[in-house]
Amino acid sequence: MSRRASERCPLLLPDDILGLAVGLTLQADHLLDVAVGARHSLSQSGEAILRCIADGCRFDTLQAEATILGIKAADLYSLLDFLNAIGGLQRKRSPRNQLRALGLTLRTACMGVHWSPLHRRRIFSPLGVLWASLIATLPVIGACLLLAVVCAGANLAPLGNALIFALGSCIIFVCSITLHEAGHAIAAWKYGAQATIIWSLGNIALLHRRLSPGAESIVSLTGPAAGALLSLAGGILGAHLAWHSLACVCLGITLLHILCLWPGYGDGQAVASALRTKHKGDT
Ligand SMILES: [Zn+2]
Repeated sequence: MSRRASERCPLLLPDDILGLAVGLTLQADHLLDVAVGARHSLSQSGEAILRCIADGCRFDTLQAEATILGIKAADLYSLLDFLNAIGGLQRKRSPRNQLRALGLTLRTACMGVHWSPLHRRRIFSPLGVLWASLIATLPVIGACLLLAVVCAGANLAPLGNALIFALGSCIIFVCSITLHEAGHAIAAWKYGAQATIIWSLGNIALLHRRLSPGAESIVSLTGPAAGALLSLAGGILGAHLAWHSLACVCLGITLLHILCLWPGYGDGQAVASALRTKHKGDT
């Protein structure tokens, strides 16, 4: 991509961000999250680049800043393309453009989960991912415990046994989700990308900068494989110890991880899109 060194960097006015944010009923910092975090690093360096753009720095200054921060030229250009497109749509404000801007932002964000102010984010760490998995699965844990109480109330099982069974199932579920996300993060780290965990009640996701199609596929496959292996091991142990109900729960959890590879959803979608990109690059 050729750009003249004297070219003024594509300027995204703070008003553009704020205007779009108001138009989409978002707060400005959530839009920044989407812009910086979606396909790029959520790190401070990404925020520094955005601030540099908003200050109207020259393109060569921006490039120098990106080099110092270790941001790849390709990542910088795709961020600028995204901001330019959003800024352009915002300047010619119309309901149709607002919709196009929303579509573009959502596509760039890959997932809509971090649009909610309820979501929290943190750089990946083993304890952090365990905590995030626990919070994300709280609705399931609550439902399991309630079901145990209902079963005991209906005299289907003694309360103690029902609660122990529900708790055991929940522990395996939380551990498998933790391992699933850790699998993604460790694979991304192997390819030099630091992952950020984003979570809220009922939702957990991982963001990292864009990788090559091959690396993206491996990162997307590693999560479900790690989660499924753990629950499968729990299922085999359950069957071996003749805890048939626990074995069934573990097999159900294994199936859940495998379903994440469905081409139209989550990890499966990421693999499919990486393969499409690779195919386009090959032809
Ligand atoms: Zn996953």
